[in-house]
Amino acid sequence: MTATVRGRFAPSPTGPLHLGSLVAAVGSWLSAKAAGGEWLVRMEDLDGPRVVAGAADGILRALERYGLAWDGSVAVQSERTALYEAALARLRAAGLAYDCGCTRAEVARAAGAPDASDPAEATVYPGTCRNGLVPGRTPRAVRFRVPEGTIAFADRVRGNVEEEVARAVGDFVVKRADGPFAYQLAVVVDDAAQGVTEVVRGGDLLSSTARQIALQRALGLPTPSYAHLPLILGPDGKKLGKRDGALPLETLDARRVGETLALALRLLGQEVVDGSPAEILSAARESFAAARIPAGPLAAGGARP
Ligand code: GLU
Repeated sequence: MTATVRGRFAPSPTGPLHLGSLVAAVGSWLSAKAAGGEWLVRMEDLDGPRVVAGAADGILRALERYGLAWDGSVAVQSERTALYEAALARLRAAGLAYDCGCTRAEVARAAGAPDASDPAEATVYPGTCRNGLVPGRTPRAVRFRVPEGTIAFADRVRGNVEEEVARAVGDFVVKRADGPFAYQLAVVVDDAAQGVTEVVRGGDLLSSTARQIALQRALGLPTPSYAHLPLILGPDGKKLGKRDGALPLETLDARRVGETLALALRLLGQEVVDGSPAEILSAARESFAAARIPAGPLAAGGARP
């Protein structure tokens, strides 16, 4: 019998597994396994400068320690660029991708960002190169020509979500000026190529989902179901990230593995039994209920901030 449900965990190997990514791993594993499905692991290592040597291996060893066994072999994005190249060629052939010669600072200035020297301010691309490169400019990034209209989807945790991508971000980058394919394109191509039916991931990626659905539609790919897990906040009330060296879960001993697993399950609103990590996980799989996953941000201690 072929599995009808296929989930995945797609970490970026930029550091050790932290509590936020453990919650995403446990949440996606539970959702897929409770439905009798498969759970894949994919290393998202396209962002070369941010990849840390040994991090991918560390994440896999940590998943093993938590009893989160994946199906099949681990997909590695840097080995799959031919797939992204083919998708980009299809977008170009359909007139849905174009070269952009703008620097980030120029985009920020043209978009009227308050501080044009800060590239992070460049939120909405104003379409400068939409109808061709400005004469004399060389191509830098490749952008997706975002169609007009609102993308709506029903998130299993957040409920109905709508975004007008053209207004929210504008034509976004699918291949970066420094070379690599952008996350947005790679994730869409891989989820489809790997037959992923459900995406369960951190709440920080909710704002990427409409862009990904727009790309799926442009490429004629199916849209999986989405569940965005609560953001886990650190003691300072900010999103817990890989820079929070305080919680490198790889180094935990066996006893702490059980404790941390229980914490991840509590953050996901799921029942926790006493026992070994394997017993905790297997009971959680039996009693898993997506409806109990909280939608709001949570402090790492488990309380709502
Ligand atoms: N690689 C992304 C991250 O680590 C997650 C991608 C996804 O789940 O779609 O934040």
